[in-house]
Amino acid sequence: MQLIDGKATAAKIKEEIAEEVKQIVAAGGKQPHLAAILVGHDGGSETYVKNKVIACETCGFKSTLIRFEEDIPEVELLAKVKELNEDSDVDGFIVQLPLPKHIDEQKVIMAIDYRKDVDGFHPINVGRMSIGLPCFISATPLGIITLLRRYNIETSGKKCVVLGRSNIVGKPMAQLMMQKQYGDATVTVCHSHSKTLKEDCKEADIIIAAIGRPDFVTADMVKEGAVIVDVGTTRVPDATKKKGFRLNGDVKFDEVSPKCSFITPVPGGVGPMTICSLMKNTLSAGKKEFYK
Ligand code: NAP
Repeated sequence: MQLIDGKATAAKIKEEIAEEVKQIVAAGGKQPHLAAILVGHDGGSETYVKNKVIACETCGFKSTLIRFEEDIPEVELLAKVKELNEDSDVDGFIVQLPLPKHIDEQKVIMAIDYRKDVDGFHPINVGRMSIGLPCFISATPLGIITLLRRYNIETSGKKCVVLGRSNIVGKPMAQLMMQKQYGDATVTVCHSHSKTLKEDCKEADIIIAAIGRPDFVTADMVKEGAVIVDVGTTRVPDATKKKGFRLNGDVKFDEVSPKCSFITPVPGGVGPMTICSLMKNTLSAGKKEFYK
């Protein structure tokens, strides 16, 4: 079994990005600029945004953090989105999700200029991704594809099961694994109403678990030699940790890992690659790689 080290891979890619940024700036080009909007004080979101700002520094990007209180009216948030759309110094920006209940998330996503949508959530980017056109690809699935490639894991013609069908992970992941230029695999998507989930997993060469159910994938669901990608990050109480919780994956690591050819740990697997892919998208935005 080989552990897929997302932390080390992400660090290496961020170094490569920083090197490219240095060259761009040395040649008189513009330093890429990522802005992030954070609404409220949710612990998870605070951590994600903080890590994104740190990653920007590592990559040599300019970053701007815009904070609003939980009760910000939707109209005010939309006005900020419009301002960022029109700000020529900002190459890309994100609105950290989830948003408070009184704000229509989809409306906010739709308001973002797709040419600056480095999260890849706007329907134009989702649509372009699904027909294989250049675009911003959602960071977690892009990070997983990058990991599989960097570890030379063969995906073409393999049976891949994606657990979960969310808009930000499961659906785009299944799309990418299916597409010729990315996974080129035969893909099955399972969700909470799938009747043959266990049987499907047992036949899979690659399982990508993104359901948010700690230890859901057990050894009896996994074929010998399978590749396992664990996207799940659920906070579970743990008195031995300083913060009082630990991050638990969707895979029962101890019993599943001996059966695998490759497996991602939690933490240190998919998580660091997600932020790294956001950085890649920001670099692409700065270079106007997909849209003029
Ligand atoms: P989500 O929006 O809650 O979607 C969960 C999906 O899992 C849904 O499609 C749901 O099915 C399915 N599901 C739930 N329980 C199931 C069960 N018992 N059997 C089969 N399918 C089940 O979650 P998400 O945003 O995609 O995130 C999934 C997990 O990945 C979470 O733990 C999240 O924290 C983590 N995550 C990690 C990263 C990272 O960078 N590491 C990034 C994003 C998300 P239905 O559609 O039928 O409800």
